[in-house]
Amino acid sequence: MAIRKSPIRTCISCRARYDQMDLYRFSLDGTNVKVDQDMRGNGRGAYVCSNSKCLTLAMNSDRLDRALKASISGESKKQLITFILDS
Ligand SMILES: [Zn+2]
Repeated sequence: MAIRKSPIRTCISCRARYDQMDLYRFSLDGTNVKVDQDMRGNGRGAYVCSNSKCLTLAMNSDRLDRALKASISGESKKQLITFILDS
């Protein structure tokens, strides 16, 4: 049996549990939110699975704000969606 090295995290939209490597991690960068692609960002992180419905739900609600305990502008959420869907 393989040893799983990456932790299990919960998607903030569907609440399903995934290997951290299968999720997008969002973290605060000052007052902005960024996609933490190398998973090494400091501090609080929010995780969303790669289901586009979950991404949309996370960005169109206050789930991300609550997970990060921050107030995130609609504009930066839009940029996050664009960034992920284009990558
Ligand atoms: Zn999800």
